[in-house]
Amino acid sequence: MIFESFLPPADIPAVDVPTFYVNVSKSNLEHPDSIAYYDVSTEKSLSFTQLYAMYRQIGSGLVNRLNIQSGDVVAIFSSNSIYYAAAFLGIISAGAVCCTVSSVFKEGELEYQMADCKAKALFVGPKQASVARNAMNKGLLTIPEDNIVVLDDDDAQGFPSLTKILSNMPFTPVVFNDKQRAESTLAVIVYSSGTTGLPKGVMLSHRNIIAYTVLSATMFEHIQSLDGKKKSEERNQRSLSILPFAHIYGLTSFITNSVAGAKTQYIMNDFSVEKFLGAIQKHRIQTASVVPSVLNQMVKHKDITRYDLSLLMLLGSGGAPLPDGTHGEINKRFPVRTGNGYGMSETCSGVCLMGDYKFIAGSVGFLYPGIQAKIVDPDSGRALGAGERGELCLRGPTIMMGYLDRPEETAKTIDADGFLHTGDIAYIAKTGHIFITDRIKELIKYKGLQVPAAELESILIKHDMVSDAAVVGVHDPARNTEVPKAYVVAECPSDKLARDLAEWVASHAADHKRLRGGVEFIDAIPRNPSGKILHRELRAKHNARRGSK
Ligand code: AMP
Repeated sequence: MIFESFLPPADIPAVDVPTFYVNVSKSNLEHPDSIAYYDVSTEKSLSFTQLYAMYRQIGSGLVNRLNIQSGDVVAIFSSNSIYYAAAFLGIISAGAVCCTVSSVFKEGELEYQMADCKAKALFVGPKQASVARNAMNKGLLTIPEDNIVVLDDDDAQGFPSLTKILSNMPFTPVVFNDKQRAESTLAVIVYSSGTTGLPKGVMLSHRNIIAYTVLSATMFEHIQSLDGKKKSEERNQRSLSILPFAHIYGLTSFITNSVAGAKTQYIMNDFSVEKFLGAIQKHRIQTASVVPSVLNQMVKHKDITRYDLSLLMLLGSGGAPLPDGTHGEINKRFPVRTGNGYGMSETCSGVCLMGDYKFIAGSVGFLYPGIQAKIVDPDSGRALGAGERGELCLRGPTIMMGYLDRPEETAKTIDADGFLHTGDIAYIAKTGHIFITDRIKELIKYKGLQVPAAELESILIKHDMVSDAAVVGVHDPARNTEVPKAYVVAECPSDKLARDLAEWVASHAADHKRLRGGVEFIDAIPRNPSGKILHRELRAKHNARRGSK
């Protein structure tokens, strides 16, 4: 059985990404001089007019100064910045492909991603410049030194500032009006470990990006009208951005949607719940997209009534499961609407959304227009009906083109009928409500951020004292999120070795990948006959131990 959205498919303009955001998306032109991005710490800002001029200068600079050719990959390794969207649109307008890199990555993670996507140029944030410099000095990067540019006004670590590559020399930006070309032209690469293995480049076409923007806007409008609110009351002008722009959720919430919707994004990089609430009050924020752990911190905050949050209309949650009671708890404290959206990098962000309309706690809501779903039995592949649990599979205009240079992995993920197998277990009620109940893939999500099990396993196995290792996600009730836990086979297990291994991982991978779930020694890692780690068995072992305590 194939499940459809209750909305008719929306019309998706068959143009290139920059044309869509600047010309087709009409609301942009209504207030061109309003602020597009404002950094709450530096108080620097960029207007839409400046953004449009700057992205063209970046496009020209890439072509004329850095000799970037059509189809080359240009990466952005930066914290959220007022210049991020300009670099994003500049790269794409130059005919190149924008690859985003997590701003918290260490040298090894940067090396892996840059080699995998074969980046020809790199924008680095001022805070990330030292990581890039060290990686460059150690010979870990193949990008020519002259093609590394700081995404800011000042030079850093010997890399030139953005101002040095801005160019007004003529160049031919990528412009087209052709559905087939929009579908087949790669625009963006984000990284995800998918259902198994190491991080892979998720290829998103011009059409994927535009489709997401159109479908999500259509969905939001309908949900708002069904919720019985007048559109004028809901006009969103000020949003607070705390999600990383490098992740698909941040990229689509705060770059594509914001440029399309002419919203001002207030950028905050150093998150604490107090700073977040203070910024909502100070900047009169109307909407914010967050991960569930932020809502959880708000619920637990002793003094939340101290803050004036009266203008806040919508708090969108996504990226990880929203605990059932959180929505109600938030609403008890102040009258804000919370949405729960589900999606993944491979679906170019959200594909379904739960607003207040027919709200059911625990549901991720209804399919976006034009998105179809089926639920299949993971063992037999048989399609199941309403109310039956199986793997959620999705089809529609936002589904990725495939994994970069990995045709086999792509074929395993997107079936012959074009359905993407999500690795999530779900059921769809007769009412159309979707419920995500489990995950059969190896992916671990710490506060909405990806922790690829295979990556941590390969780091652990490189340690002299480790003969085998597996990493699984376990629930941490105190933090209300999943955390990675390692099962390790070692000749001389000890508490000291456990601490050393946690430190070893921390020194090789970003902070969100730390082994916060601990290290447990085990006699043998359970594997199937072909040697594949049985992660589910280890998760069950952990849960059984916790249950019996
Ligand atoms: P990513 O590619 O990093 O966005 O990760 C996508 C994965 O995060 C999904 O396949 C789910 O396992 C999980 N996820 C995202 N949003 C939700 C949600 N609202 N509820 C439950 N799981 C979610």
